[in-house]
Amino acid sequence: MKKTVLILNGDGIGPEVTTQGAKVLRLMAPKAGIELDLQDGLIGAAALEVTGEPLPDETFAKAKGSDAILFGAVGDPRYDKAGSTERPGRGLLTLRKQLQLYANLRPAKVLSATIDASPLKRERIEGVDLMIVRELTGDIYFGEPRGRREEAGQKVAINTMIYSEPEIERIVRFAFGLARQRRHKLTSVDKGNVLEVSAFWREIAIRVAKDFTDVEFGSMYVDNAAMQIIRDPRQFDTMVMGNMFGDILSDAAANLSGSLGMLPSASLGDRYALYEPCHGSAPDIAGRDVANPIASILSVGMMFRYTFGKPDADDAIQSAVDTVLSTHRTADIMAPGKQQVGCSEMGDLIARQLEG
Ligand code: NAD
Repeated sequence: MKKTVLILNGDGIGPEVTTQGAKVLRLMAPKAGIELDLQDGLIGAAALEVTGEPLPDETFAKAKGSDAILFGAVGDPRYDKAGSTERPGRGLLTLRKQLQLYANLRPAKVLSATIDASPLKRERIEGVDLMIVRELTGDIYFGEPRGRREEAGQKVAINTMIYSEPEIERIVRFAFGLARQRRHKLTSVDKGNVLEVSAFWREIAIRVAKDFTDVEFGSMYVDNAAMQIIRDPRQFDTMVMGNMFGDILSDAAANLSGSLGMLPSASLGDRYALYEPCHGSAPDIAGRDVANPIASILSVGMMFRYTFGKPDADDAIQSAVDTVLSTHRTADIMAPGKQQVGCSEMGDLIARQLEG
């Protein structure tokens, strides 16, 4: 099986962590029977410098020719100044929108080696393995009208929460399909007691559930879901929600497992797929070989599972990460009794563990 993967390093620690992710990708592909065609391209501030555009046409064309994208991070303090019209982040937003990457997958899995790095007590989070599916291309972030205006002499600001039936049905069906590959349990999150959009969402989710009777299904209000994620996260398997609720709950859930440097993600559509760490370009530590590459490496694991259909390779990568973390740590997750290593050494240790 031949697969084309586009590697977009981006800015800051993007190149450092993605190099380690790509190392694991190259190592595991032949083991999983995949012949890789690796391409690269410019995005973010790195692209602005050279082409004046955060997403050059050439990069976009390569993205459209790929089976999967491994993305680093974008963002550079030189462009973050208020008033700057050249935003490196626009490259990523355009890519997500143009490639119709409507399903954002954010796993929250507590590894045994780093269980003590969690802000919650061990007995509450041991064994947590939940997946948040966030709708990524609709909701209040894109609804019209939006903006500021004057009404009856007062300044007001407005955003519009809107979802169409096909948009809701598409993401709910996707989440049911994913739940089937996991532990056959799906929780749909909404605010149906207050918002019309949410009541509509709930109605559609209940209708779709009739096609997936092998999946245990329930709806939950978002405020209760926020509380339950902290109180008893083990009750959840797969969760599905709109863009805004997903933005907030996925950060809360992901942090159950400890450090930002360890959180992978996938953004999937019907044709394209993008895999990236949840963290940004971390300019404060860029270029010093101290960043944690595990989020990128685990994102590669998700690529094997969801784009290549090779869950065993993902399991092997997660297990290698867990084993290495029992003895070695990067600075952000350093703990007493462990040996501190840099970004490239952490990548080497995980690769060596995978070579067995
Ligand atoms: P950030 O995630 O880059 O960094 C937050 C903190 O976490 C920093 O102290 C950083 O050193 C640390 N950190 C992040 N990743 C780490 C890793 N792998 N290993 C060790 N420590 C790590 O968020 P920020 O500081 O708010 O943003 C910096 C830049 O990144 C901004 O320009 C922002 O716009 C951009 N950003 C990009 C993305 C993306 O590309 N998807 C996401 C978030 C932020």
